[in-house]
Order: sequence, then structure tokens, then C-alpha cells
Amino acid sequence: MIGFIDAVAQGIQAKRNPITIMVMALKPRILLVEDESGIADTLQYVLATDGFTPVWCSTAEEAIRQFQAEPPALAVLDVGLPDLNGFELFRRLQALPGGSQVPMVFLTARSDEIDRVVGLELGADDYIAKPFSPRELVARVRTILRRSARVGVVAAAPTPMAQVPVTLSAVCTRAIWLLDEERHQIRFYGRLLELSRYEYGVLRLLVQKPGRVFTRDELLLTVWGDDNDSFDRTVDAHIKTLRAKLKQVAPALEPIRTLRGTGYALSETLPETLS
Ligand code: CA
Repeated sequence: MIGFIDAVAQGIQAKRNPITIMVMALKPRILLVEDESGIADTLQYVLATDGFTPVWCSTAEEAIRQFQAEPPALAVLDVGLPDLNGFELFRRLQALPGGSQVPMVFLTARSDEIDRVVGLELGADDYIAKPFSPRELVARVRTILRRSARVGVVAAAPTPMAQVPVTLSAVCTRAIWLLDEERHQIRFYGRLLELSRYEYGVLRLLVQKPGRVFTRDELLLTVWGDDNDSFDRTVDAHIKTLRAKLKQVAPALEPIRTLRGTGYALSETLPETLS
């Protein structure tokens, strides 16, 4: 009998052309770590038909290798694996480069409250007890990815898991904002913004917490710190130049809101894509 992956691979071989490859590349990769092949086959099938690229591993060791090769958009981890338990695997994946940015969901045969609590306390994004409907799992995967796709973060410094989960890879390239903290770069609808040091500092803060109002004092203190010769007007001047740069990408949008007498906030009502 030919396996699911083989079937998909043959399908790709059969109609390999640049367009197919481009479309494939845009499908978020879901790392599926599950040792029961029956469950894995079903999940791969529903994930693939729902527009994802499932990558199946039956052991934790293989999962770590796959993750190192390319962090997925999301990982589904079975708790009962032959070589490591899912919680330990979660810890190891978290420690890998980009690991803390990948949303993870636990899958378990045991519906113990203890497992549930351990899983969520570790910082997993969701928890699904077997038996479950494959459709339900796909729906949850979709919800988690949607939640994390609006603001993408690339290679960020480690942050507490309590913050908004963010993802690497394919989903992020379609995020409205893409923050790359290692390179001090921000993309807006995919376009790289040419920012000065302070412009980057201000926009980085706003992008990390869409909707949150930052007062001028807060921005001054956080972005300019000890550069004492800065005034409120310094903040306003930088917001003005930032807005001009954002207008070049999206002339019709107002991504930075002014709250009169208070400060500034990033708009939460931007469209998903530019028309
Ligand atoms: Ca298992």
C-alpha cells in the first residue's frame, strides 16, 4: 500500500511546474508528531485537504531534526511518544532557534486534568484530547494561525510564552506587520521600511501591541531612554516621518492612530491585504 506522503509526492511530481511549487510554498507547514500511523494518516489527509502541508514524524528525535531543518508554522505534539514524552519534546523544541515563536498544540489519549494543566502551563497554545474529530483539530489549527498571522516576528529575542503566540515561515510572509528584531527591520504588507533608529524603536513598540495606547512619555522613556535632550515634540516629529513612510506603502490607510492629548496606538482595523 502506498503511504499518504508518497501519494502526495507523486501528485507533485506528476504536475511539477513553477506555479504548483509556488502554491505549495505558501501552504503553512504543520509538524505532526504522532506515533500511531492510523491517526497520523487521517490528520495528514484533513490538513492537506484544508490547505496545509503536513510533515509527519513518528518519533521525537525525528521531530527535532525536522524542526531544526525548518521551523514549521505550527506543531501538533502527541504526549505519548515512544522515545520522549510530548511535554519534554515541547521543551526541547522551545529551546531551538525560532522555537518559542512556533505555536504548539498537544494531543493526548489521556484526558487527565493533570495533563491538560501541565500542557497549558508549559505554554502550549491548545490541548486536544483523543478521541477528537480531525475537523475539530484543523479548525483549532486554523484559529491559532489566524490569531498569530496578523503580526509576525522573525528571529525575535526569547519572550515569555504568555505573550501573543507568533509564528515563523509561510504564514508570516502574509502578515500585515513583520518584525525582524535581529536585523532591526519591519515590513509592512511585505514591503521593507527604511527606518531610522528611533523610527524603528517607536514602530517596534506599537507593532508589538496593536491597539495599546502609548503616551509620549512612555515612548520617550522606552525608545530614547537617557538621550535627555528629547521632548514630546521629538516623538511627534518621528511619528510624522513614520506616517509618511507608511503612506508610501498604503496611501489610503492610517496605521498609526493619534489619541489627542494622550499618545499613539497602532490601528487594529487594517485590512488583511492591500487591494
Ligand atoms: Ca502515542
